[in-house]
Amino acid sequence: MTNSLKIIWDELSEKPVSALDVPRLRTYMERMAQLQITEKLAILADAAKYDASCASSGTVKRSSSKAGGIGSTEGMGICHAYAPDGRCISLLKILLTNSCIFDCHYCINRKSSNVRRAMFTAKEVVDLTLSFYKRNYIEGLFLSSGIIKSSNYTMEQIVEVARSLREDHDFRGYIHLKTIPDADPELLAAAGRYADRLSINVELPTHAGLQRLAPEKSEARIEGAMGGLKEEIADNKDAKKKYKSAPNFAPAGQSTQMIVGADAATDGDIVFKANSLYDRFSLRRVYYSAFSPIPDASAVLPLKRPPLMREHRLYQSDWLMRFYGFAPAEVIDAADADGMLPLDIDPKLAWALKSRAMFPLDVNRASRDLLLRVPGLGVKAVDSLIRARKWRRLRLEDVGRLTVSVAKVRPFLIAEGWSPGSLTDAQDLRALLAPKVEQLELFA
Ligand code: SF4
Repeated sequence: MTNSLKIIWDELSEKPVSALDVPRLRTYMERMAQLQITEKLAILADAAKYDASCASSGTVKRSSSKAGGIGSTEGMGICHAYAPDGRCISLLKILLTNSCIFDCHYCINRKSSNVRRAMFTAKEVVDLTLSFYKRNYIEGLFLSSGIIKSSNYTMEQIVEVARSLREDHDFRGYIHLKTIPDADPELLAAAGRYADRLSINVELPTHAGLQRLAPEKSEARIEGAMGGLKEEIADNKDAKKKYKSAPNFAPAGQSTQMIVGADAATDGDIVFKANSLYDRFSLRRVYYSAFSPIPDASAVLPLKRPPLMREHRLYQSDWLMRFYGFAPAEVIDAADADGMLPLDIDPKLAWALKSRAMFPLDVNRASRDLLLRVPGLGVKAVDSLIRARKWRRLRLEDVGRLTVSVAKVRPFLIAEGWSPGSLTDAQDLRALLAPKVEQLELFA
């Protein structure tokens, strides 16, 4: 049982009533029923942790169950996501089943994997969601699944969960459904009528990678399903403009996930793929999930997970394309000769160091688009500078108040009373700006 869910589930469990008040058999049956759900929850919440689409990943492992204290960063079962209005919401994150008829090499739930299997009924997922929701532990549901019997059968069960929550129980909370790309378009359309967000995992950034590691999946079918959802979402937006009462269709859009480091794809391949997905399918988010070695791993997989920093650099490059006006080719310019983004410095700084001819920029005159290229300046800082410079000439100290590291900004900006001179072209600028590597304590 996962830590976080166990604590909650213990609270949900009915305390034993006096044996004199309750027939022994009934108590026994209730306990058994609870145990089954508890076990399923343990297996199916744990199995869902490999999906990064709403995970709060990237921190160190800590657990009060091992070292005392309170809390754990290792628990799974409840994850966080951002609603369309920016609120952070907690979701019950589970699989309908971890059984699967496919055999994707990178997946712990693949057909040939030697793991304990479990499956919820649609009603059990509905009851669990409502139980957690009523106690204010969650604000929604993230439901994914292995494929059982057939894609259509699995999708029917997933849709039934969402339908029952919305229609039978008038559930107004957030629902994110992972959809099965091979399922009939009518089933995907039905999912969109009940869910806030839909997602279809592209899994691997290259066609070759998908063929090698998930041979039963098809890039064409995955992208075909994404294209169908894009059209439904766009049609629904148009209908909403004309008729306020038009029913919703996945109002929080669609997203996808790519596994990083399970195949030979470079960061360049991943950046181009992500950009192409954003462009063609109007995705809200592409999530990057560093491949983590699984028990009983297939021999075709790498033995070690890629550095978590690689995942972080890809998220930063994603932000450069979505919010800073970078073209994918410019992000790739920041990469090293092997197509990989540097791990020791962020991609914006890496790009600026290779594009020094366009610096320094005058903070009092440069356009917003150009100022967004300056390492160390975020969108909010640039907008604040542009507002402030209407009233007075800005000095480096003014910029310093809006950035975490003025040292990072100085070589790339001219301000009132400040010019970087030869610093912009200094040979050792990278070494000067790269974060210092912390000395490990030998005898800690
Ligand atoms: S289809 Fe999904 S659940 Fe099944 S093996 Fe592939 S990745 Fe795992």
